[in-house]
Amino acid sequence: MIDFELEPQVASRLKMYRMVSEHMMRPISRECDENEHVKPTQFYESMWSASAMAEVQVGNEKAKAGSGAKPEAEAATAKLRNLYTVLSTEELCWGDAGLFLSTPNSGLGGAAVMAAGTAEQKERFLKRFREGKPKWGAMAITEPGCGSDSAAVTTTATRDGDHWVINGTKIFCTAGEMAAEKSEGFVVVWATVDKSAGRAGIKPFVVEHNTPGMEVVRVENKLGIRASDTAAIVFDNCRVPFDHLLGSPEVRQDGGFKDVMATFDATRPIVAAMAIGVGRAALDFVRDFLKEQNVPIRYGISPRRLTTVERDFMEMEVQLQAARLLTWRAAWMLDLGKRNSLEASMAKAKAGLAVTQITQKAVELLGPIGYSRKYLVEKWMRDAKINDIFEGTQQINMIIIGRRILGYSSKELN
Ligand SMILES: Cc1cc2nc3c(=O)[nH]c(=O)nc-3n(C[C@H](O)[C@H](O)[C@H](O)COP(=O)(O)OP(=O)(O)OC[C@H]3O[C@@H](n4cnc5c(N)ncnc54)[C@H](O)[C@@H]3O)c2cc1C
Repeated sequence: MIDFELEPQVASRLKMYRMVSEHMMRPISRECDENEHVKPTQFYESMWSASAMAEVQVGNEKAKAGSGAKPEAEAATAKLRNLYTVLSTEELCWGDAGLFLSTPNSGLGGAAVMAAGTAEQKERFLKRFREGKPKWGAMAITEPGCGSDSAAVTTTATRDGDHWVINGTKIFCTAGEMAAEKSEGFVVVWATVDKSAGRAGIKPFVVEHNTPGMEVVRVENKLGIRASDTAAIVFDNCRVPFDHLLGSPEVRQDGGFKDVMATFDATRPIVAAMAIGVGRAALDFVRDFLKEQNVPIRYGISPRRLTTVERDFMEMEVQLQAARLLTWRAAWMLDLGKRNSLEASMAKAKAGLAVTQITQKAVELLGPIGYSRKYLVEKWMRDAKINDIFEGTQQINMIIIGRRILGYSSKELN
C-alpha cells in the first residue's frame, strides 16, 4: 500500500535540508553561477558537517521517540531509502541544483556501486563517505563517440594478472574533477572487457582518486548548473586491482548488460527529483511575485472564467505534481525491489520536460525582469535543461517507455 506520511526523523531531516537550501545555497547561488570554476570550499565543508549533523538530529528524534520505541518506523525508513533520497534531492535542488551536484557525497559513482557492486564492494567503496574529509564520487560513461547509446562504449579494460588496464576517454563527467583528483573519492568508469561480446562485455570499474594513468584534461564551461564541475578524463594504461570491477567479471549474454543498466533505474528518479526541485523554486517565486503584484490565482472557479495567468500558473502546478508523483512511484518501487525501469524513465522524461516548460513560463510571466539577472529565475531556466539531457535524454527515455509498454526489444525499437 502507498503511504505518503513521513516518519518524524525523515520529516525533520527534510526540514533541515530546507534550511540548508535557504541559508547556505541560495545566498551563494548567483556568485557560484557567475564564477563557474571557483570552488565554494566553505560550502563543501559546511555540507560535509551538515550531513554529520543530520545524523545527530535523526539520532535525537530517535531518542525522543524512546529507546526501542518504534523499531518498525526505523526499519521502514531504511527500507524507503530511495524514496527519501528523492525527497531530499527535491529539497536541496530547490536551493540550487548546481550546488546540489557539487555537494560532497558518493553521487552517481555511489549509485553505480549500489546498483552493480557486491555487498562487500558496497561496504569497501562507500564506507569512506561516512568519515574523514569531504569527498566525491562520479560516474563516467559518456565518450566523444558514445552518449545516448551506452552500449557503444569504446573504453577498454584488459586483464593483466590481478589487475585491469583501462584505456579510453570519458567526457562530461559530473563531479569528475573532485572525484578523480581533488578528494579521496573515486570514479566509476564503464569499459568493455571484450569488444566481440558487444554490450555484454561492458562492465563498471571503480578507479580510485589519483590513480596513475587517470588524468582530468578539461573542465567544461556550461549553460547551467555552473557550480558543478563537469570533466573530461583520459585513461592511459590506468591500472586498477581485479576486484575493482563491480559485480561479476563473467561476460554473460543473458542479462549481463541489464545488470549494469540497472544503475539508471536508481539514478533517473534522482534526476527527476532534481528537476522537480528547480521547477518548484520557479513556481514558488512566481507565486510570491504575483501576490506582490496583487494578481490573484483563483482556485475552484469555472475554467471558463480563469485568466491566462491563472491558467498558466495552474498548468505549471499540475505538471510539477504529475512529475513528482511519477518520481515517488519510481523510487518507491526500487525500494520494494520491484523492476522500475519503465517508471524511472517515465518520471525522468516527464520531469525533464516539465521543468524546462515551467522555468521558461516563469521567466515569461515575470516580464522583462524575468530575463534579467536581478532574480534567479533566468538561472533556473538554464539549470533546468540538463535534467532533460543527462541520465538519458528525453528522446531516449521515450523510446524506453515505448519498448516497455509495447514489448519491443532494443533491437526492434531504437
Ligand atoms: C552537464 C552535463 C553533465 C553530464 N554528466 C555526466 C556524467 O556524470 N556521466 C556521464 O557518463 N555522462 C554525463 N553527461 C553526458 C550525458 O549523459 C549525455 O550528454 C547524454 O547521455 C546524451 O548523449 P550525447 O550528448 O552523446 O548525445 P547524442 O547521443 O549524440 O544525442 C544527440 C541528440 O540526439 C537524440 N538521439 C540520440 N539517439 C536517438 C534515437 N535513437 N532516437 C531519437 N533521438 C535520439 C538525443 O536525444 C539528443 O537529443 C553529462 C552531460 C552534461 C551536459
